[in-house]
Amino acid sequence: MILLNPRQHRRAYPDERSREVMLRTIAFFERKGKRRLKEDDHGRVWYADFLEFVKNEGIFATMCTPAGYGGPEARWDTWRICEFAEILAFYGLQYWYTWQVSVLGLGPIWMSRNEVLKRRAAQRLRDGGIFAFGLSEKEHGADVYATEMTLSPTGEGTYSARGRKYYIGNANQAAMVSTFGKLAGTGEYVFFVVDPTHEKYECVKNVVNSQNFVAEFALHDYPLTEADILAKGDDAWNAALNTVNIGKFNLGWASIGICTHAFYEAINHAASRRLYGMHVTDFPHVKRMFVDAYVRLVAMKLVALRAADYMRVASPDDRRYLLYNPVVKMKVTTQGEQVIDLLWDVVAAKGFEKDMYFEMAARDIRALPKLEGTVHVNIALIVKFMAGYFLNHRPYPPVPRRDEAANDDFLFDQGPARGLGQIAFHDYAPVFAGYHLPNVAVFVEQIAAFRELMTAATPDETQRKDIDFLMALGEIFVLVVYAQLVLENTRLYAVDDGLVDQIFDCLVRDVSRFAVELHGKPTTTPAQMDHCLRMIRKPVADPARYERVWQEHVYALKGAYQMNE
Ligand SMILES: Cc1cc2nc3c(=O)[nH]c(=O)nc-3n(C[C@H](O)[C@H](O)[C@H](O)COP(=O)(O)OP(=O)(O)OC[C@H]3O[C@@H](n4cnc5c(N)ncnc54)[C@H](O)[C@@H]3O)c2cc1C
Repeated sequence: MILLNPRQHRRAYPDERSREVMLRTIAFFERKGKRRLKEDDHGRVWYADFLEFVKNEGIFATMCTPAGYGGPEARWDTWRICEFAEILAFYGLQYWYTWQVSVLGLGPIWMSRNEVLKRRAAQRLRDGGIFAFGLSEKEHGADVYATEMTLSPTGEGTYSARGRKYYIGNANQAAMVSTFGKLAGTGEYVFFVVDPTHEKYECVKNVVNSQNFVAEFALHDYPLTEADILAKGDDAWNAALNTVNIGKFNLGWASIGICTHAFYEAINHAASRRLYGMHVTDFPHVKRMFVDAYVRLVAMKLVALRAADYMRVASPDDRRYLLYNPVVKMKVTTQGEQVIDLLWDVVAAKGFEKDMYFEMAARDIRALPKLEGTVHVNIALIVKFMAGYFLNHRPYPPVPRRDEAANDDFLFDQGPARGLGQIAFHDYAPVFAGYHLPNVAVFVEQIAAFRELMTAATPDETQRKDIDFLMALGEIFVLVVYAQLVLENTRLYAVDDGLVDQIFDCLVRDVSRFAVELHGKPTTTPAQMDHCLRMIRKPVADPARYERVWQEHVYALKGAYQMNE
């Protein structure tokens, strides 16, 4: 079974410590139970119990210390990080968030050449510390160029930091806060570390109403020396972007964890509820919503797993991950919203009940497309790869499933964030050609129509500058990449053809939907509109396949998991 089920956790691990981390984390939450989990959520209780558990078990130290800085089992291993993120969000996005912002806070530290700060971070991890990433500012949102936090030289390698940061997770209790700013005078970017217990650090307030502490903090002429600086100039800028590259990938895994738990609750509820003399799961529209939710969720997971393989093979010579990573961030998280919407339509009032995990899922799933770069910011990034993806092909060595115990060194040495348009890709066509399934075939015809739009009715200069138009175009391009990643993994995970075809039933409808969007944009030309109409296709219905997917995959999950009370 591809979905996480904490009751039957049978994943293969290359080492015992990785298994132990996952099983103990699951055991912590199951012991805590759903009633207390929800009480803490409603009471907005700081998760001290979870952080105590993490400290006692050395969990963040194992998971977040690169090889060489911690114990023998410590390494930065994307394969096990994915699963850890999934488990945390399965039990609550708040638990995932305190870990996630620690990952972000550690990013510029592990990327730095400042060995003293790296050793200090490793020690703080062993002590059970959490970390924070101070990038965002209240007035500037996604516009990081406009950063106002300023570091002014005060002579002989000393500085004074002044400014404010906003929406900074863990900034109340972090052992180290990685803070982004500019050097006074030169305007050069700089990353430095501050300590929330310092008298010149003011934790102004929590700006959210939740268990998380998402802070506004201010530095009031906070004194620093060269020893507190992580990076300057291009290195600081690259550290900001490259940290977000690593971190934002985890948002897809949070969506997967949330949707999986919500799915179990929904199927358990609907399958045992009788209305008008029948089970709710016997209503044809309910069945359809469950099948769509399930296949979308499986696709989310296949894509995120495959993108992780590309993160692990990444090198200066293979930067394809820079496309697949924002696809996970933007598409997996918005698919997560769609899954919850479908399930919520099924469970209806039950989704509001205070004792249900679902109530948290319905709220929290909305956050993931918005954190660490909105959907728009990520599509704007993704379209930069479009020409390379379709036209600049070169062979790469095959990428197998990358589940070995290895430290992903390159992630902390990604180099300049420039040159995205020059990245070459392997040809996607053979990936699709390897499948002879009706809906894959329809999808391939849709891609052909999209490519023709791009080559025969190429967007003009005005359209290329119109972000609204580009968003609609980008949504279709994302679907092509998404479908490629799905197919690359279906064989690796032995997904049966019926399920694959059912996934493509959804993808065909999605292309049609975005083709209608693009058709309706004010500047779309008649020639482009013709290509859009060719992209609007009906999936191939196969009642026997649909019924098999329902019985063997979806309905089969009834009773498969229920959290301890
Ligand atoms: C709960 C929570 C926790 C957070 N934790 C942290 C944290 O720990 N550390 C941290 O540094 N930040 C954190 N953030 C900030 C988060 O990363 C920002 O929300 C995000 O960068 C977007 O900024 P914004 O929400 O202010 O949107 P804005 O930047 O104000 O965007 C407004 C609109 O403009 C669009 N837009 C902006 N730029 C572009 C572009 N280039 N192309 C296309 N469209 C664009 C956006 O999509 C959006 O629709 C957190 C935010 C929240 C809500």
